[in-house]
Amino acid sequence: MKSMNDLSPNNISKEILGLTDSHISYFKQPETNHTVGVHHSMLENFQALVACAKKEDIEIKIASGFRSFERQLLIWNNKFSGITVINDIDGKKVDVNTLDDGEIVKAILVYSALPGASRHHWGCDIDIYADNLLAGKPLRLEPWEYSQTGPMAKLTTWLAHNAVNYGFYFPYDKFRGGIAPEPWHLSYAPLARKFQPQLELAILQDYLSKIDIAGKAAITNNLSEIFSRYINNVCNAPQGFN
Ligand SMILES: [Zn+2]
Repeated sequence: MKSMNDLSPNNISKEILGLTDSHISYFKQPETNHTVGVHHSMLENFQALVACAKKEDIEIKIASGFRSFERQLLIWNNKFSGITVINDIDGKKVDVNTLDDGEIVKAILVYSALPGASRHHWGCDIDIYADNLLAGKPLRLEPWEYSQTGPMAKLTTWLAHNAVNYGFYFPYDKFRGGIAPEPWHLSYAPLARKFQPQLELAILQDYLSKIDIAGKAAITNNLSEIFSRYINNVCNAPQGFN
């Protein structure tokens, strides 16, 4: 198990906002051929988690690891313009044509982070699934798949008992009035404890004011509310694991 104390202070804002990948190790996942990136400091513990799950016949794979600002911006803009479907917390499709900009922003934030405020920028947050439990079906990353009647039930139960032993926890463990629960999204506590307090409203406001983003006015005029309801409104990283 590795300790983590190598975040360069000069680079921390760029890492938080997804503007660099200098903290990321990329690797190709066996069987799926899908290349993903995670923070280099959590790679060892992630691999240990995967090896332990494999003994129980659970083949953990990452659906989404590190994501850059640019990638998150594309996801955001596509949802805002209606190119990509926005689901509400009950899994129903949202019709963007019936909403004003502020309402679209809030609808997107239930499942997708604001660019610059995605925990996937940090590299210590990953969306995972078990390849062998899918039985050939496509992964949708929807809550029913991870429920006790869904294909990922065995993974959900295993993670509930074992993730913490490797330093992982669920930041979106339950609905807190903002972001929907995400039973597939794991965060590596030793890194999350470093990154989360350093994502400041002022840094985000400053950066978003300088770029083109769909719904810009609705975002920048309401960033304080967005910040407390959809960004910081998560389960805090547990202490005691280094
Ligand atoms: Zn995620």
